[in-house]
Amino acid sequence: DYFNGRLDAGKLAELQRKHLWLHMTNHRLFETREPPIMVEGDGFIIKDIDGREYIDGLSGGVWAVNVGYGRESIVRAISEQLRRLPYYAGSTATPPYILLAQKLASLLPDLPKVYISNSGSEANEKSFKIARQYFREKYRSDKYKIIYRNRDYHGTTLAALASSGQQERKIKFGPLPEGFAEFPHALCYRCQFGRSYPGCNLECARALEAVILQEGGEDGVAAVIVEPVTAGGGIIPPVAEYYQVLQNICRKYDVLLIMDEVVNGFGRTGKMFGFQHYQAEPDMITLAKGLASGYMPIAATVARNKIFAQFLVDEEDKTGYFRDISTFGGCAAASAAAVENINIIEKEKLAENSAAMGAYLMEGLRELTEIPVVGEVRGTGLLAGIELVTDKKSKQPLTERHLAQVVADAKTAGVIIGRMVRSVPGFNNVLYTAPPLIINKEGIDRIV
Ligand code: PLP
Repeated sequence: DYFNGRLDAGKLAELQRKHLWLHMTNHRLFETREPPIMVEGDGFIIKDIDGREYIDGLSGGVWAVNVGYGRESIVRAISEQLRRLPYYAGSTATPPYILLAQKLASLLPDLPKVYISNSGSEANEKSFKIARQYFREKYRSDKYKIIYRNRDYHGTTLAALASSGQQERKIKFGPLPEGFAEFPHALCYRCQFGRSYPGCNLECARALEAVILQEGGEDGVAAVIVEPVTAGGGIIPPVAEYYQVLQNICRKYDVLLIMDEVVNGFGRTGKMFGFQHYQAEPDMITLAKGLASGYMPIAATVARNKIFAQFLVDEEDKTGYFRDISTFGGCAAASAAAVENINIIEKEKLAENSAAMGAYLMEGLRELTEIPVVGEVRGTGLLAGIELVTDKKSKQPLTERHLAQVVADAKTAGVIIGRMVRSVPGFNNVLYTAPPLIINKEGIDRIV
């Protein structure tokens, strides 16, 4: 019935209320309002069950649908692969799986070893496991700690959560795995060192060294993980020289640098990958969301040859290779979707469009800084945020209630934007947008 077009909005809402436990949702809200149900998309427009159309300023709610909706060629790739062979996994590849690895390696030639999984959280957990085992194989050492940055988010599973710098997401789920430690965020607007760029000596980046030393230095720390541009933690693009400083510290202590490109990757920031805005040479990168633009769930952890080489062991060694598996990691149709998705991003130059439209978006948002409650606008490419304050001098955050009202008003006006939810003071006051990379000037004008 559903595919035959008989959609009963009232019935679906009733069933939803009865049975569905939505992500990130206080279901109390649905006692007084209708739960949202989206049914169709085309380009950067999304339609809800009542037939209302919106500009999707969030690329599928969580910044994933980079190529936009209605991509027939991705649908064809998926269905053709499902027809040929829906699934085969374990220690066996399928052609799309291999072709995806090759495609990613062509984009990231320094990171030619591709390990596929299902979600951003998983890709990050794989990177931690790889980092820990890498040093165990290399030195037989206990160099296992992972350092993460305040405000960055790396996922929902317990270790990915332990590596996330957002206290509000962790607080009810402890105890979390040990072996994780935090270093300061890179948000100049709220500099923890009371300094201002460029005269600040990048103290926020240099602070990493003290944390590494405190966690055992070269003998204790395996990896540092960062989002090149922090997304859900407040839209925070670090200053130009930031990663040079971070990387030098990592090298000094023989620590691997992992970059989480789950949001940044595939054109979101105006380059194919977020780290390409900086002088940075990560040892591993994690990818998800825009990898298949949400047409299928898929993620990847890509690594340098030197890391992979450490896992080539004698046949008798039954723990020296990477003893890790995900049933659906490498699903054939998801790999096919990802290959076609990347083809589209390349052919249609969507990273370039993201840069051009991102600049146009930022121009529009900058005009809003005249409004007394707009503290700062910031972003890179089509990843932009507006920090709202009660007044510009005190920088007191505007309350979440006010932000919720702006988001609700925008929706009434036909535009979906987001707000940072239930964060700590000083960070719960950012509105954000990350529209599909195919957006045009008219779409941006509406969002602004
Ligand atoms: N890393 C970043 C930067 C993210 O924003 C997210 C999710 O929003 C994740 C990792 C986790 O990805 P997933 O939800 O696919 O597990």
